[in-house]
Amino acid sequence: PHDPVFSPALSPDEGVAAATALFHEAFDCEPDGVWYAPGRVNVIGEHTDYNGGLALPIALPHRAHMALRRREDRTIRLVSPQTRETIDVLDLDQIGPKGTPGEVRHWNAYVAGVAWALEQDGLGPVSGFDAALYSCVPLGGGLSSSAALEGATVVALDEVNALGLAGSAEEPNDAGRERLVTSCVRAENEMAGAPTGGMDQSASLRCQAGHALELDCRSGQVRQVPLDLAGAGLALLVIDTKAKHSHADGQYGSRRAACEKAASLLGVDLLVEVSPEALPQALERLEASGEDGAELVKRTRHVVTEIQRTKDLVALLSDGQALAGDKLAEVGTLLNASHDSLRDDYECTCPELDVAVDAARAAGAYGARMTGGGFGGSAIALVDADAVEQVARAVVQAYAREGFGAPAFLDAVPSAPAGRLA
Ligand code: ADP
Ligand code: MG
Repeated sequence: PHDPVFSPALSPDEGVAAATALFHEAFDCEPDGVWYAPGRVNVIGEHTDYNGGLALPIALPHRAHMALRRREDRTIRLVSPQTRETIDVLDLDQIGPKGTPGEVRHWNAYVAGVAWALEQDGLGPVSGFDAALYSCVPLGGGLSSSAALEGATVVALDEVNALGLAGSAEEPNDAGRERLVTSCVRAENEMAGAPTGGMDQSASLRCQAGHALELDCRSGQVRQVPLDLAGAGLALLVIDTKAKHSHADGQYGSRRAACEKAASLLGVDLLVEVSPEALPQALERLEASGEDGAELVKRTRHVVTEIQRTKDLVALLSDGQALAGDKLAEVGTLLNASHDSLRDDYECTCPELDVAVDAARAAGAYGARMTGGGFGGSAIALVDADAVEQVARAVVQAYAREGFGAPAFLDAVPSAPAGRLA
């Protein structure tokens, strides 16, 4: 009963086979190719993206696969295993943002939305297309299944429309990908109506295998930070709590609003402009600002300290020394401090996340924290490679004790960005 369940990543061959079979069945012809994009997990730097701060995601081996064929007209036809019975048909000239007559339903918004956004951003025109989606990124688990959908779509459309912006996974055109990220974010914000900040799409398109991506969310600049976990005898265990709290979307919006209000009270555009040295004074001003002063203090303290923790972790990982001993302990301390700040100051964890993190730490993890937006979703734990099973088992046992549903696990090997498979 206590055996942890791991969600395996499809191999590239399996991904191609699954997406191609679905395409054949739905459209009865050959796709032009099969493209993919990964989900992501953020190592540190949470709720910093929309504050112009730093994040440090890695691309997962878990990917959305998309078999796609260009059409000569403006029609889009979409199929996925979740909607196998019906093929959704859309018209590129009729679709529009959420809340308008052209609004697009469910996951179609992420895919058709990318085509629409490319044209809005002046990167088109793009033609219509038929596409079959097959993804093994856990849906709604805080691992960015949505950005994986957008990323797979955007690299496919880049190639079949000869936009020349993506390059390949092995030789990416990073400047081009930065522009494609913008269109993916627009699709998610405007077509799907999810006010996310851009870290997910950047990770899916701009990460590199064996590296974490230091992402400056204000400038869009990135740096590849070596992260050879296996070489250091380590693993990053992802714990998918399977919890999704229904108020999550509203809470996300209210956290963003609090950050904007704090920034405006402090006379800055974004909270990234508040330095750690200036923080105590800034907090005093917020405290005195009105009845929500105490709330603004907590939110701001999280954002400013989290950006500093991200800088500190990047510095540790970039020092050229092996990830072991004191350095490993320091990395763990930063991960733990991040979680504690998200729990106590940003107040975006939940019992399932806190129990997972506490159980992982007690079972010997060097550090553990929630990752992604929070209020459910996933946590990560940095563990010895040969302790993965044991830490996972401890989390399963803690969940059973608490009466929570069983979590799922995956092994977050830093993997390749979006590209073409076949
Ligand atoms: P996350 O990105 O953390 O997984 P989101 O709520 O941002 O969570 O995105 C989840 C949404 O993405 C789903 O509700 C669905 O609309 C869409 N989606 C992702 N993967 C798939 C899939 N394989 N098939 C259909 N829809 C998907
Ligand atoms: Mg998402």
